[in-house]
Amino acid sequence: MKGCRATPAKAYRIRKTAPETNQNSKYTAHMPHIADLLKNPQHRTTSFEFFPPKNDEAQEQLQQAITGLEPLHPDFISVTYGANGSARHFTFAATEFVKRESSAVAMGHLTCVSQSVGDLKGAIASYKDIQVENILAVRGDPVGGPTAPWVKHPDGLDNATQLVELVKSQGDFCVGVAAFCDPHPETMNFELDAKLLADKQRAGAEFAITQLFFGAHKYFELVERAAKWGCDFPILPGIMPVTNVNQIERFATLSGAALPADLVERLEAVRDDPASVRAIGIEVAVDMCRELLAGGAPGLHFFTQNRSKATREIVEAL
Ligand SMILES: Cc1cc2nc3c(=O)[nH]c(=O)nc-3n(C[C@H](O)[C@H](O)[C@H](O)COP(=O)(O)OP(=O)(O)OC[C@H]3O[C@@H](n4cnc5c(N)ncnc54)[C@H](O)[C@@H]3O)c2cc1C
Repeated sequence: MKGCRATPAKAYRIRKTAPETNQNSKYTAHMPHIADLLKNPQHRTTSFEFFPPKNDEAQEQLQQAITGLEPLHPDFISVTYGANGSARHFTFAATEFVKRESSAVAMGHLTCVSQSVGDLKGAIASYKDIQVENILAVRGDPVGGPTAPWVKHPDGLDNATQLVELVKSQGDFCVGVAAFCDPHPETMNFELDAKLLADKQRAGAEFAITQLFFGAHKYFELVERAAKWGCDFPILPGIMPVTNVNQIERFATLSGAALPADLVERLEAVRDDPASVRAIGIEVAVDMCRELLAGGAPGLHFFTQNRSKATREIVEAL
């Protein structure tokens, strides 16, 4: 099983050199498929997620985050896609920017909310035009939010599995998918989520990234459940530290589960002291990352919120 190797953990080392360079891009000679990067059992990948900036200030923040994280030599960086695709040009521009400005492989996300198959083919063609061959195929949340009922576009797709098939039919793409350590809020069904991962692998997906979660055991349980359904591709844990108390509610909505009571208690006890809240969040994230790597996770994927400081602190602590 690749996602959760039974062998003892290899040391988690930051890659010391940038990949080969050429004149086409600032850093990367070619864009390897992320699935190939994940095949190296000696190497645990480090990767980051950014969202596309929509104004000059946000663009500057993204630039700073890329620069700030570059010393960690990320293996890949992914860029999110606004669920309904209406702002997709921002995603293509940001993915191209990442490709140019970072040594990392760039991956673009894609959703199927409110888009016809024709729209989706257009989006995939746009990725091809900018030579982005790694795509994270997710369904996207319904227009009314994560718990609103799902409504398919009349000429569109119903779920991420169908989106994986569509992307694979459009060219030589390496496709990743979403995974869930806590049950997906729409169905609250652990086994269905695990079975769907196996379905997505059969449809052509080659790796998955989890939604944020708290508790390394949840990740290992997911890997075990997925394996029972025949899914053996690498599953990267998605990491997001709590850095302020206002995130407690938001994280619960995103992950589909409340934060562990003991963590909430620790955070509430220092809620008026932002530095202490942050320190606890980082400490908990570092401990969880250590446990994940020791248990065989193939790498760590950080939801950075376009900032570099917290992620740097965690990776450097590791
Ligand atoms: C790493 C990561 C990155 C993400 N990036 C983005 C992004 O860039 N933009 C964005 O808008 N959202 C993003 N999301 C959020 C994601 O789109 C939502 O969580 C969405 O609700 C589920 O996406 P999915 O790909 O798992 O969908 P699916 O696998 O299609 O599942 C969606 C729901 O339908 C159910 N379902 C699916 N197939 C079947 C079936 N055959 N039978 C019965 N039930 C079924 C599932 O149980 C689930 O409840 C991301 C999530 C993660 C974990």
